[in-house]
Amino acid sequence: MMKRIIKGQEPSEWTYHRLQPQADYDSADAESKEALRLSLLRDQGFVCAYCGRRIPCRDSKMGQTDSYVPETSKIEHIIPQNAFADTDALGRMDYHNLVVCCPGSVKRIPGISIEKSMHCDSRKKNRMIHFSPLSSDIEKTLSYITNTKDPRAGAIISSDETIMTEIGGCGDKCYNSNDNILNLNHPTLRESRISVVKGIIQSMKIREKKNKVTIEWLEKILRQYENKTIPYSYVSPLDGTQKTYEAYMEFRGIAIYYLTKKIRSLSKQKLS
Ligand SMILES: [Zn+2]
Repeated sequence: MMKRIIKGQEPSEWTYHRLQPQADYDSADAESKEALRLSLLRDQGFVCAYCGRRIPCRDSKMGQTDSYVPETSKIEHIIPQNAFADTDALGRMDYHNLVVCCPGSVKRIPGISIEKSMHCDSRKKNRMIHFSPLSSDIEKTLSYITNTKDPRAGAIISSDETIMTEIGGCGDKCYNSNDNILNLNHPTLRESRISVVKGIIQSMKIREKKNKVTIEWLEKILRQYENKTIPYSYVSPLDGTQKTYEAYMEFRGIAIYYLTKKIRSLSKQKLS
């Protein structure tokens, strides 16, 4: 979370499925579901629509050792299926309401129930959120705590009160709140986010020794996070075939935020 998702074209297998008489979301066969999943993964550059982790990934079943949740990614309805009328099968199958998420089960938060330690779709379930990960408006409200010494380092924050509540922006105070729908400040997610910033700081320190942290260099790093710049090898769960696609880097939201701020402050220094 959370860079806007830019949708590509719906895969032809999915179009074919949803235009069949009596078709519904749940009646899709394995092939059309897989075509849908791969297409969503490619749109999103193989990162979760909400938390920005690399997907597909295996998450452990909380509270158990050597046991994993069955799914390595989940197709998520932004507007939940139960919000559509029974007769509105096309609504439930709308490509623009579908995204792909991580399994949402990284680690149990001490003192918090398993259910409330979940994040992303696993915590959201059939609930409504009042924003769309497809809209650029949400990005404008988001910021991150990038000070590595801050106890809440890596936290995501929104200037919009409703979004802030629904993404779990208030952190520790709201793990138990039912209005925290996505739980994006789960401690493990915060740690992963701040480690991206630490990595950037580390490479800046190496450059600084040679006095080489320039705006141009920072902009080059920024572009690596903005675009699908890394190869990802995807194995089809249907037949095990492997193919390489272009992917985004994980947790790129905080990286883009941090680098943009750095570039802005360096440009100001240059001017003064
Ligand atoms: Zn996620």
